[in-house]
Amino acid sequence: MSEVPVFTAERIKRFLEEKPLLTWERGQLPGTESQIDVVSIDMYCRACKMVRPFITLASRGGGAGGVQPMGRPADETARYRKDPRLTSTIVEYSFQCAGCPGRPPEKYYFWVEIDVQRQAIRKLGQNPPYTIEIDKSIEDFLGEDGSEFFKRGRVCELQGYGIGAYAYYRRVVEDCISGFIDKLRDIFVLQSVDKLILDRLHEAESNRQMETRISIIKDILPNHLRPGGVNPIQVIYDAYSAGIHRLSEEQCVEYADDIRRSLIYLIRTLSNIKTEQMEYIQTIRKLQDRQNRNKGDQIQGTQN
Ligand SMILES: [Zn+2]
Repeated sequence: MSEVPVFTAERIKRFLEEKPLLTWERGQLPGTESQIDVVSIDMYCRACKMVRPFITLASRGGGAGGVQPMGRPADETARYRKDPRLTSTIVEYSFQCAGCPGRPPEKYYFWVEIDVQRQAIRKLGQNPPYTIEIDKSIEDFLGEDGSEFFKRGRVCELQGYGIGAYAYYRRVVEDCISGFIDKLRDIFVLQSVDKLILDRLHEAESNRQMETRISIIKDILPNHLRPGGVNPIQVIYDAYSAGIHRLSEEQCVEYADDIRRSLIYLIRTLSNIKTEQMEYIQTIRKLQDRQNRNKGDQIQGTQN
């Protein structure tokens, strides 16, 4: 029998962020209520128009991240501050955006059923409901068609239609590769990398075979784009090259998830690097201009 994974705080956070409604997620539940607390989640904020950290609104007697079991009076909750045992119940999670400019900040509520006997949890409700809105930086990178495919992939994923989601995300990958190559070239040129690496990039660009293109750029991805040593292009490559024909619906759900996460990471990071580097270059240019002006002044000074 395969081991059932434990519900850690990180796993429940992910569950809140991503799991569709009414789908059971099985796992070993912790012993006490405080262990299912979630301090913050990362969700799309409709006011900020980007993914933001949302911080818990509930608090457990001064502690952070408390969930509120439904139907238990507040004073009774206060009495339970000693962290009661987790029982089968329905709990409410509530969060507010940490970065909202206006007042009041955007909020998220989740109602989660805990079933201790079955060792499983599921969402009964969520407000606001799932959005398929995507980050501005991702929308800018993908363009109109790419964003549309990405959103359709997300809709399929949220309904549990793995094959559909996988097919849409594969299409997004294909549309993204040229953009990744361009951004990588910008980075490589600025970092004055070895010519061999630029040659490999050119090879990827001119190759017609999608799998080969992805395979080449996974090998030359800089280390600072591999969080925790994980190469997101390798993850995309593995998922992409699995091919859709022999995969089960469940495998497709997993591959779709891998592709979406890796794409989001790469697009966000590459877009940020570009902006930061442009700002840096502008600063350097200003500095150089000033130095040149100073030199000019000095020359003029000696001529006078
Ligand atoms: Zn916000």
